[in-house]
Amino acid sequence: MSQFYFDTEKTGHKRFELPGAKPHYNPDRPGQVEHIFLDISLDIPAQKCYGSCNIRLLPVRNGIELLTLDAVNLKIEAVQVNEVVEKFEYDGEQLCINLSQPTEIGHRLLIAIAYSAEKPQRGIYFIQPDKHYPEKPTQVWTQGEDEDSRYWFPCFDYPGQLSTSEIRVRVPQPLVAISNGELVDTIAEAKHTTYHWSQQQVHPTYLMTLAVGDFAEIRDEWHGKPVTYYVEKGREADAKRSMGKTPQMIEFLSEKYGYPYAFPKYAQVCVDDFIFGGMENTSTTLLTDRCLLDERAILDNRNTESLVVHELAHQWFGDLVVIKHWSHAWIKEGMASYSEVMWTEREYGNQEAAYYRLSEARSYFNEDSSRYRRPMVTHVYREAIELYDRHIYEKGSCVYHMIRAELGDELFWQAVQTFVQDNAHQTVETIDLLRAIEKATGRNLAFLFDQYVYRGGHPDFKVAYSWDNDANLAKVTVTQTQAKAESKDLFNLKIPIGFGYKKNPQLINFTVRIHEKEQSFYFPLSQKPDFISFDVGNNYLKTVTLEYPISELKAQLEFDLDPISRIYAAEALAKKGGLEATQALSLALKNDSFWGVRVEVVKQLAEVQLDQAFDGLVAGLNDPSPFVRRAVIGALSQIKTHNSYKAVKGFVQDGDASYYVEAAACRTVGAIAAAHLEDKPHEDKVIKLLKSVLEERAGWNEVVRSGAVAGLSEFKSSEAALNLLLEYTKIGIPQPLRLSAIRALGKISTGQTPANIERILDRLSEIARETFFLTQVAVLTALGQMETPKAIGILQSLANQTADGRVRRYAEEEVSKVQKNIGTDKTLKQLREELDQIKQQNQELKSRLENLEAKSK
Ligand SMILES: [Zn+2]
Repeated sequence: MSQFYFDTEKTGHKRFELPGAKPHYNPDRPGQVEHIFLDISLDIPAQKCYGSCNIRLLPVRNGIELLTLDAVNLKIEAVQVNEVVEKFEYDGEQLCINLSQPTEIGHRLLIAIAYSAEKPQRGIYFIQPDKHYPEKPTQVWTQGEDEDSRYWFPCFDYPGQLSTSEIRVRVPQPLVAISNGELVDTIAEAKHTTYHWSQQQVHPTYLMTLAVGDFAEIRDEWHGKPVTYYVEKGREADAKRSMGKTPQMIEFLSEKYGYPYAFPKYAQVCVDDFIFGGMENTSTTLLTDRCLLDERAILDNRNTESLVVHELAHQWFGDLVVIKHWSHAWIKEGMASYSEVMWTEREYGNQEAAYYRLSEARSYFNEDSSRYRRPMVTHVYREAIELYDRHIYEKGSCVYHMIRAELGDELFWQAVQTFVQDNAHQTVETIDLLRAIEKATGRNLAFLFDQYVYRGGHPDFKVAYSWDNDANLAKVTVTQTQAKAESKDLFNLKIPIGFGYKKNPQLINFTVRIHEKEQSFYFPLSQKPDFISFDVGNNYLKTVTLEYPISELKAQLEFDLDPISRIYAAEALAKKGGLEATQALSLALKNDSFWGVRVEVVKQLAEVQLDQAFDGLVAGLNDPSPFVRRAVIGALSQIKTHNSYKAVKGFVQDGDASYYVEAAACRTVGAIAAAHLEDKPHEDKVIKLLKSVLEERAGWNEVVRSGAVAGLSEFKSSEAALNLLLEYTKIGIPQPLRLSAIRALGKISTGQTPANIERILDRLSEIARETFFLTQVAVLTALGQMETPKAIGILQSLANQTADGRVRRYAEEEVSKVQKNIGTDKTLKQLREELDQIKQQNQELKSRLENLEAKSK
C-alpha cells in the first residue's frame, strides 16, 4: 500500500508538504485547443501589453455553455465567440465566458478576447534603466513555467493542452522581438516594428514566449536550420564563447534521442534580470545574461556549458514530449540534468562524467537531509513551482543513470528513442516511460521506479571487509543503515562487488542481491585482493561508508580505476586519520591524474586533525587545475594559522588566472584573520586589504569582489567590516555584488552589538520591500542566518506579501532556521569554542607524537 511509503515523518525527515498543500489535478477539458494567436502591442514605459488573444477550440462534447479560462490581473475589454459578442464574468483570476450557443462536437469555436495587462506581477517582465542603474538595457521578456502565462494572456493554462501558436507583436524601434517558431513577417512603421512569429508544432501555453530588446544577433546553423544567439550589443564574443557549441550539441542529442531536432530554428536569448538560469521555451530558450563568459571566466566555469545543453535537451524532453501534469516534471528535468552528464562524458570523458554525477547526487543528498524527503512523483503541494527541487533535477538525473546501468547502453538508448518517437508532439506521464522501456527492451523496471521514483530516500550502505587467510575467503558485510526496524525502508538491489590487484587493473566481479538490513557475503579468491570496490561503476544512487583496513583503502585510492571509488577511499582514509592516512592523501593530491579526485582529496586532508595535513595541502597551491587551487584555498580557511595566511595572501595580492581562485583567497584570508581576535592590528590590515579589492577589482559577474565581501563577513565582531558591507548593499551598486553584500549581512550579524544588529535588521527590512526575485532571496538568506527573533517578523511579512511561491516557501523554511539558531544558547556556543581550542591543542600534540613515532620506526 503506497500510503505507508509516503509517510516520511517517522524517518526523521521534514515533510515536503507545507500547511495548505493539497492534491492537484488537471481540470476537465471542454475541448482541444488547436491554435492560439496573440496580436499585441507593447507600451514599455507604461509596462503594458495590450491587444487580442484568439483561441481556436474544438469541443469534445455537446452542450457546454460555460468556458473557464485562466487570466490573472488582466483587464478584459470584450469577448467574441465566432464573431458574436458574448457575456463574460471576470474575477481577476478566471475568465468565464457564457456561450449563447452551447457547444456542438465538430463545430469549432473562435474565441477572441480583447485585453490588456498593466504592470503585471509575473509572466511578462519589463526591464528598463532608471536613475540608479542608467546602464540597464530596455528589455521585455516572459516566463511562463509553470502557471504564469495567465498573467500576460488568457489561456487554458495547464500542460495537458497542446496547440500551435502565433504571436504578432508591435514594439518601438530599434528593439527586436523574438518568439517561438518562424518569423513569417516584419512590418516597419515610422517608429515601430511589428514582428510576426508562427509556431507550427503543437506545444503547451507555458512554453510560449516573447523576448524584446536591442540585441546583437549572432548566426550559426545546424543542418541548414538557423541557430541564433541574441545578446546585448558589445557581448558578441562572449556569446560565441558561451553558446558556440550549440550546433554540436544539437547533433549529439538528435542522435542520442533518435529524433532530429524538431523545430524550424533554435534561438537562445540572453536577457537581463532573468529569474532562472534558463527557460526552454519551444525553439526559443531564454538564458540569464550572467551565463555569458569572458576570456578568464571560461577557464573554470562549466556551469554555462551545462546550462546550454540542459535547456537544449528540453527541446526533446519537455517541448517535443510534453509532461501532462507538473507531478511528472522529473521526466523532463531529470533528463535535462542527465544531458549535462551525457555531454560531460562526450566532451571531457568518463571520469569527469562520473564526478559530475557524484556532484548531482550530493546536491540531492543535501536537500534530502536538510530540507525534506519526498517521492519524485507527487501531486500534493501548494504551488507547482515547489516541485522544482533537487529531487526532480539531480535525483532525477541519477535515476536515468540507474536505468542506463540496469539496461546497458544499447538497450537504454533504444528505450529512450522509443519513448521519444512514440510520444513526440504528445503528453506523457511516468507510466509512459516504463511502458516505452518495456516495449523497446522487454524489461520491466517497475521495481526500480517503486524504490527510487514513487517513494523518497535512497540506501545508506555501510560496507565492512575482512580476509580469511586460511580459507582464502573475502568476507564483505553490507548494512543498510537507513533502515530502522521496519522493512519498508530497505532497498532491494543487485549490486556488483569487485576485487582488485595492484598489478592488474581488471576487477574480479561478483553480483549480489542486497535486500536485508545486514548481510555478509563470502567470496573465494585465489589470493588476497589489494582492494575492494563496492558497487562497481558506482551506478546506484546511494551513500557509502567504507570500513576497510587502511592498506586496502590506500590501495584503492591509488589503483581503483573508478574515480568515485577513489573518492570514497579518500573519505574513509581521512576518517581513520593518523600520519599514514595523511601521507596517502598527500600523495594522491600530488599524483592522481584526475582533478576531481584531487579536489576531493583536498577536502579530506582539511578534515584530518594533524599539522602534517597542512604540508600536503600547501603543495596543492601549485596545482595546474584552477579547481584544485580553489579547493586548497577553501580548505586552508579551516586551518586558521599564520602559515595558512601566508600561503594564501599572495593569491589576494597578486591574483590568479581564475576569478574563482581569487575570490576564494579573499574569503580565506578573512576567515583566518577573523579567528585571531587578539591580533587587532592584523585584523585591521586584512580589512584594509579586502577594502582595496572592493575598490579595484570590479569585473566579470563581480565574482572577485563578492569573494572580498564574503571575507569581510567573517569579521563578526568588527564594526568597520559591517560598515563596509552596508555600503555595498546600497542601491546603485552592481547587482551581483549588492546581492552578495546583502547575503553577507546575515553571517556578520551573529557577533555584532545589539545596536548594530538593529542597523542590519533595518537595512534588510528596507531591502525586503524591493520586489525583484533575486533581491528577495538574498534578504531571506541573510535573515535565515540571524539569531534574533526580530528576523522572523521580517521573514513572515515577506512570506505574506510576495507574489512568488518560491519566495514564500523559502521564507517559511528560513523561519524555522532562525528558531533553531535562537535555540542554540550562548553557553553552548561558548562550550563549543572552548572545545575547538582543546581540539587544536590536541592536534599539535598528536602531530608531534606521530612525528616521533615515525622517526623511531
Ligand atoms: Zn530544466
